[in-house]
Amino acid sequence: MSVVLRLTLRADDPETLRLIARLVRRAGGPARSRRRPAGRRGVVLVPTDGLGGLLRSVAPRLAAADPELFGDLRVAPEVEGGVPDGRSAVLALREEAALLDAAARACPEPAVRVVFTPHRLHDNWFSHWDGDRRSALVSMADWDGRFSVPPPAFVAYQAVLHGLRLLGAGYDPEGLAHLETRGCLFDFCRNRPDVEIKLQAGDFCPSCAAAMTAAGLPVRRLLRLARVIRRLAGTLVSAR
Ligand SMILES: [Zn+2]
Repeated sequence: MSVVLRLTLRADDPETLRLIARLVRRAGGPARSRRRPAGRRGVVLVPTDGLGGLLRSVAPRLAAADPELFGDLRVAPEVEGGVPDGRSAVLALREEAALLDAAARACPEPAVRVVFTPHRLHDNWFSHWDGDRRSALVSMADWDGRFSVPPPAFVAYQAVLHGLRLLGAGYDPEGLAHLETRGCLFDFCRNRPDVEIKLQAGDFCPSCAAAMTAAGLPVRRLLRLARVIRRLAGTLVSAR
């Protein structure tokens, strides 16, 4: 005798998404890729052009919020920015590549490097990810007082955004990003000032939260990291 079990799955039903996530985990899906590559350390933040102090003010907060992912988060010694035109320069692609190569030479071991520069990126994006180099380049352009949100909130956001790549292929920030500004950490922010809305909200929209749950990502832990961003943005003062 055989029994046929029929299930009705609804993509917008949290219970269904949890079930899918469990099945994917059991099948050796994204959760398995959470393990760090053998022999490689976690995330390192790499300063250039005097940004070390700012990065050091943020790193311990992320380490405390998620010791598993960021417990060994460290700030590397400063790497030479190598741009002769001063702090308002726009980095050309070859300068960007040279900077990431210099960071890789200075810190060869980490699984993910997040390099911070005061210069603007050529397309005016907040950051770029270079998958081959396992490195992000974050531009601190406009964080010299033009935004009202304190710069540490942006540093924490970028460290989390790229550091979570340690979770493996199930984490796909480029796939999650949406053009609509929803006060979600995956808002694309084509209109740059919208970044303030994103950092002050420090949250995930229902659609991104559901997608991350379905991918088997540890959403509860991610919410703790989002809370750090919110606190640094000044919107969680009561919880200090
Ligand atoms: Zn979202």
